[in-house]
Formats: sequence, C-alpha cells, structure tokens
Amino acid sequence: MTHEATKPAAAPVRLGMPAPPRPVGPARPARPAPATSARRLPSTGGLSDLRGRPLRDLRISVTDRCNFRCVYCMPKEVFGRDYAFLDRDELLSFEEITRIARVAAAHGVEKLRLTGGEPLLRRGIEELIAGLAELRTPDGRPLEIALTTNGSALAMKAASLKAAGLTRVTVSLDSLDEALFQSMNDVRFPVGRVLDGIRAAHDAGLGPVKVNMVVKRGLNDHEILPMAEHFKGTPFTLRFIEYMDVGTSNGWELGEVVPSSEIVARIGERMPLEPLGATAPGETAARWRYADGEGEIGVISSVTQAFCGTCNRARISTEGRLFTCLFASEGHDLRALLRGGVDDAGLADAMGAIWGARDDRYSEVRATLTPELRAARPKIEMSYIGG
Ligand code: SAM
Ligand code: SF4
Ligand code: SF4
Repeated sequence: MTHEATKPAAAPVRLGMPAPPRPVGPARPARPAPATSARRLPSTGGLSDLRGRPLRDLRISVTDRCNFRCVYCMPKEVFGRDYAFLDRDELLSFEEITRIARVAAAHGVEKLRLTGGEPLLRRGIEELIAGLAELRTPDGRPLEIALTTNGSALAMKAASLKAAGLTRVTVSLDSLDEALFQSMNDVRFPVGRVLDGIRAAHDAGLGPVKVNMVVKRGLNDHEILPMAEHFKGTPFTLRFIEYMDVGTSNGWELGEVVPSSEIVARIGERMPLEPLGATAPGETAARWRYADGEGEIGVISSVTQAFCGTCNRARISTEGRLFTCLFASEGHDLRALLRGGVDDAGLADAMGAIWGARDDRYSEVRATLTPELRAARPKIEMSYIGG
C-alpha cells in the first residue's frame, strides 16, 4: 500500500470562509504567514459542535515516522522500507503549529497533546514546546502540554523536555515480557529502556506519568495482571486501551478486543478495585482505584463503551489537516490556508466553522456497521492522524 492510500485525497471543505485562499501544493514555496507574536488572542466565545460538544483538547501529530513497528499500528508489511513518509516541506513548521494552537486556544482549547508517529523523533521538538508554552488561554492561563511517546528516547530527553515547558508525558508499554514486547514493537526494542524512560520522566517532573497498554486478545492479554502488579503502588498510572479499528492496515477484528469490563474483572479478582469519578469532562479513561489505597488504573473503552457524547478532541495531522474524529475519512487542509497567507481571524473562522459542523460519533455507530461496511469506510492511519 502506498502512503497516498492512507491519506485523505479530497480537498477540504472550508465552511464559512469569506474568500478561501488558494490551496497550495508542496512544490510551491511557502509564503510567510503574517507575523503574529501575541501569546493570547481574544476569546471567540467558545465553540460548540452539532451535538453541543465544546473544543477543549487539540492533538498534534508532529511526525508520521516512528522507530517502532508496533503490530497493531504500523505493521512492517505495510510500513516497510519503501513506504513513502511525508517529505520535510510537507510537515507543518513549528511556527505553523504554534499559530494553529494559539487560534485553538482562543476557541477554548486548554490542552495540547503532541503525538505522532513518534514525536520525539521530530528534530528540535523542545523548540516547539517552548513556543507552545508561551501561549495563554483568553483568561491568561498557560495551556497544558502533554506528549505521548513510545519512551525510546525519553531517558535521554526527559530533562530537556521539562526545561522547554512540557507539562507531562504518557508512555506506551504493551508488555513487561522481553520477548513479547520486542515482537510487538517488531524492532527488538528492549523493555528496560522504556522503563528507564518512564522513571526519567518522573524524576524530571513530567508526572504524573501515565503508562498506556493496548490489549489485543491472544497477543498480550496474559500481561494484564503482571503489568497491573508491576505498576501498583508506584507513582505511575497504568491505563488499558481497547484495541481499536484505526486505519486500515492492522486487520482489526472485534474478537481481538478485550472489553474493559473484563480487564477490570480480571484485575479486581486478584486486587480489589473501586470505581472513581472522572476528574475532567471529556476524559477518555474510566478510573478505578485499588481498595488498599495503592494507586489506580484507567481503562479506555473506545470500542465497548464509546465516549463520543463528551468527545471534545480535535486532531491536526502531520501535514496540517484538521480532523474532528480519530475515525474521520477526511481532514480540512489548514496548511493550505496558512501557506496561502490567511490571518488569525480567517484561520479562527475556518476552524470555528469546521468544529461547528462536526457531527462525528464513530465509536457509537461502529457496533451497527457490518464488517463489510466497516472495511469499506476509508480511515486514516493512527501514525499519521496522531493517537
Ligand atoms: N508513538 C507514540 C506512542 O506509541 O506512544 C505516540 C503515537 S501512538 C499512535 C499513540 C497511542 O496510540 C499509543 O499509546 C498506542 O499504543 C495507541 N495505539 C496505536 N494503535 C492503536 C490501536 N489500533 N488501538 C488502540 N490504541 C492504539
Ligand atoms: Fe510507533 Fe506509537 Fe504506532 Fe508503536 S504505537 S508504531 S510506537 S506510533
Ligand atoms: Fe471522539 Fe470520534 Fe473517538 Fe467518538 S470516535 S470519541 S467522536 S474521536
């Protein structure tokens, strides 16, 4: 499969734009955007989509590349040596990302998450973080800046990320079993180095560090208990993610999903758990605490208990398309607007119109789709849209 097959082909719908600037292709030199150095823009009054959901959380994919080939995300058979990743000039620049984030903050975004691909592979990421750390909400608060990483470069970078202004990190780790972990990342990356990264992030003050484990039945579900036991009583919160049908390359089947209810039951049998309330509206994880007071776990039930009703997240792909859902087939080309010379007000109008027209709730309708209909639906790879 070529990369083109995973990218949205069509041009964006630019809703409510007075005079849409001409989209530009990669071959045309970028026109410098108008200088906008303000750390905060006036509030637009907040946005609401067609289902009354505000925009609060912006996930930004800073690279579509990764040094891992996790079998459920970037399987080697698809993301092989000849896979066409984006060229450097196709990526949003740090200035472009920062402009989008500043406008998003005026629209009510309070939290940014840098992701990918593997975000720590993006050269100079600390510089981007430092720029984002300057941004303020309309009432003058700094934005929360989180980052999701496979942890491979974290031991080396934790201190510089913290110094740049990163708030906290989430680290992905699917098993403690050396052979299994290496076969799941498929590049023989050792568990110990990820654990070193988790510890380094904590020591650098990037906590509370969350650890994400994607659970796939028959592959790593026997690691649920060992992982829970390992992280119980530590400063780290383990979160179990139901294996999702993102993209089209992982060959997802419903039978491979381990429902969160089963995960909670399996752990609870050995180490009793009690439910906890959500800490923030739109939170993806349901929280459970150990009855003996030794910390908590989270479960992200994107398949069996969809949380679309409170979903307040938008995503910016590596090349600057705005997606209003992880499972959207098409994004809106903000990069074309930026490189066409749009000013902040025009960008705010475009983003506001896109969010205002949002009606996504894929995880709620997934169960009503036949496998054929699901397969026919074009979806974007997670490494491109950002997890
Ligand atoms: N490379 C970084 C990492 O692995 O943490 C950031 C990007 S990754 C796409 C973000 C998150 O998505 C990771 O926690 C990963 O485990 C999760 N993920 C990837 N594919 C998934 C799938 N098919 N179902 C559920 N979660 C998935
Ligand atoms: Fe890379 Fe993260 Fe996808 Fe694994 S889950 S292949 S580390 S982007
Ligand atoms: Fe949000 Fe789309 Fe996921 Fe539903 S399926 S929770 S709308 S990203």
